[in-house]
Amino acid sequence: MATFLRPELSNLRAYSTLTSDSLPPEVDSLDTNEFPWDLPIALKERLAQQYVSTLASHRYPDSHHWPLRQAIARYVSEHSPTEISPHQIAVGNGSDELIRSILLATAIGGYGSILVAEPTFSIYGILAQTLGIPVYRAHRDPETFAVPIAEVNTLLGQAHPPVRVLFMLQPNSPTGNPLTAAEVDWLRQLPEDILVVIDEAYFEFCGKTLVGDLTTHPNWLILRTFSKAFRLAGHRVGYAIANVDVIAVLEKVRLPYNLPTFSQVAARVALDHRQELLAAIPTLLAERERLYERLQACPQLRVWPSVANFLFFRLREPAQTQPLWEFLKKQGTLVRAIAGGIRVTIGTPEENQRFWQRFEQGLREVL
Ligand SMILES: *Cc1c(COP(=O)(O)O)cnc(C)c1O
Repeated sequence: MATFLRPELSNLRAYSTLTSDSLPPEVDSLDTNEFPWDLPIALKERLAQQYVSTLASHRYPDSHHWPLRQAIARYVSEHSPTEISPHQIAVGNGSDELIRSILLATAIGGYGSILVAEPTFSIYGILAQTLGIPVYRAHRDPETFAVPIAEVNTLLGQAHPPVRVLFMLQPNSPTGNPLTAAEVDWLRQLPEDILVVIDEAYFEFCGKTLVGDLTTHPNWLILRTFSKAFRLAGHRVGYAIANVDVIAVLEKVRLPYNLPTFSQVAARVALDHRQELLAAIPTLLAERERLYERLQACPQLRVWPSVANFLFFRLREPAQTQPLWEFLKKQGTLVRAIAGGIRVTIGTPEENQRFWQRFEQGLREVL
């Protein structure tokens, strides 16, 4: 590698998604936990109309995102015991950008390290590494995927530089389990010099939020996204909810025009029509339960309960995971091979049916 490039980046593995040239033309994408249905045409038309009539494409976007932050604060407050103010909201180019802002604000330059409990969402560790931030990794219980509290406590005591951010998810990805009451109690007594990030990317599916803890825990931050239940993955909008001092610093470290005008408006339109958009969720959850029961009846694998829009299972014979993944891909269903198992996103009823047929065929032909 050229000597002007940081050597530690030569071994870094970037977050990878499949390239479309390696895929059949008609493919069921059950690998990235997106919502299976696009925005209704009427909403797209409303959005297009706003673009034509009022949006200035020659002007920079609103760099304060104020109307969007107000709309998000109202939405978050609906599920919070206390009112959330727009000053407690920061929006990013996906929650990915907010994760990077958090790292810039807390741990870069040798000031700190971060801690994750694996298996978990890989972006926290990848982004930390790109910034030269050390990552401590604890190992979740292999049976329940519970947070290994004793191991985390030990790491927190030993870490050097000290852990500034603990990344937690509710529910966890790729495993789908929510935080237990004991885990939440433990998080509540962590010292205030650690930022506790609770990633609630799947909030609308599981219905649980810890936003009520923000008033008593100024060292907590909640992450959410429009990429999943709100069907806007293509627009890249995520948000953080935290106390005003933390949000003010996140606002300082980001790029000035981080969110395109069109994306800001798309998120507002989606929020305005949230009842209609979120009404499809019970159908997805019923589909998830159906697939869960089918998978549970397979002696060749173990599937875990999930409160998100995906399921995680492991084959009893781990070496067969990759061949099964390949088989499904050839048949036209993409799933994610991860953490020694397979994570499958709940799709439309038709996609789920095709997945099941192909999966059963795979069990017969591959295993
Ligand atoms: C999908 C997902 C996100 C969302 O990322 P965006 O950048 O907002 O698309 C964040 N965290 C987790 C755990 C996710 O699964």
